[in-house]
Amino acid sequence: MKGRTLLMIPGPIEFEPEVLQALGAPTTSHVAPAFVDAFGRALERMRDVWQCPSGQPFVVAGSGTLAMELAGANLVEPGDRALVVSTGVFGDRFEDLLGRHGAAVTVLRAPVGEIVAASAMEEELVRGGYKLVTVTHVDTSTGVRMDVTKLGELGRKYGTLTVVDGVCSVAGEEIRQEEWKLDIVLTASQKAIGVPPGLALLMASPRALEAFHARRRPVGSYYADWSKWLPVMKAYENRTPSYFGTPAVNLVAALDVSLGQILAEGMPARFARHALLAKAFQAGMDAVRLTQVPAKPPYRAHTLTACYAPEGIGIPAFLEDVKNAGAIVAGGLHPAIKDRTFRVGHMGAVRGADVLATVGAIEAGLRRAGHRFDAGAGVAAAQRVLLS
Ligand SMILES: *Cc1c(COP(=O)(O)O)cnc(C)c1O
Repeated sequence: MKGRTLLMIPGPIEFEPEVLQALGAPTTSHVAPAFVDAFGRALERMRDVWQCPSGQPFVVAGSGTLAMELAGANLVEPGDRALVVSTGVFGDRFEDLLGRHGAAVTVLRAPVGEIVAASAMEEELVRGGYKLVTVTHVDTSTGVRMDVTKLGELGRKYGTLTVVDGVCSVAGEEIRQEEWKLDIVLTASQKAIGVPPGLALLMASPRALEAFHARRRPVGSYYADWSKWLPVMKAYENRTPSYFGTPAVNLVAALDVSLGQILAEGMPARFARHALLAKAFQAGMDAVRLTQVPAKPPYRAHTLTACYAPEGIGIPAFLEDVKNAGAIVAGGLHPAIKDRTFRVGHMGAVRGADVLATVGAIEAGLRRAGHRFDAGAGVAAAQRVLLS
């Protein structure tokens, strides 16, 4: 038996062979013409994936948290007011992060599994004086997706910059950054972008760059300072090398390949595929009588699913049983529900067959744990959606 186990966690995910080939190719100089070309093309492709023709892309070595830091460090000055909309652990992380940069932070925190209503955000923004608002598009600790289609409009109305943590959504959930007037949409390589961990990716609107250029004080972080990275991004896009910190050469080459694949699929098709696979997987979980963390179906993300395990089931043993049945899924992350939940990523290079295999592996784990359900009910429900 081949040692194949599907990696179905909310990042890192399964990667395409061509992406891994680029990653494993001999490392070139960061000024080699072929690399300069790949970097420049990756930056151009980001604009198409983010659907933000006027945006300024940034690619910096680091994880998704660095992408959050790039936003916070460059847009916040000590004493600025920030509104953090939190639907889980990653919203809370932004509270902590912006505070480190001297922001006076107000948090609108949803109960676990709930969203923050647009009206609640507006009630707070109308008070005025907010330099920026952050929203986690999909919070990976709860599987809750926020509607960000009107967020940009709200930000423009109240003179507040809008920052979307899209680490678990960009290239999986629909985002039209320019049309939706979002100032920052950030992510990391290892989630729906489909490249091994190590790149922080961010797209800044012209309005965000204006706010940055209008700063009175220098950026408190040396490595995250946009004034160091802007000339580098502009140079590579003009197909000339430049240096501030050594770029992650192989990861950038792999990013170029993955973005090319994403655009070849086409954004509408990609979003529709994620929506269908999520609907199938979530129908499977409903059919085996599991409760999902998002309180209502419209709150459920398309990139991952968070479920409560049946009462009395130990998560570590359950995860081990699911793995032995063929799929690696993740445990809980949110402190309030960590010991009672598990999470499944279904983003990037995922196909219907992977979803069926994963639902089947979860059924095997549930059966071993003594949960009562009709064997095959989850797989059948998922398949019905896939074939509908
Ligand atoms: C994964 C994730 C992060 C953090 O990314 P790292 O690469 O782990 O630093 C931030 N926000 C969201 C929504 C995430 O899913």
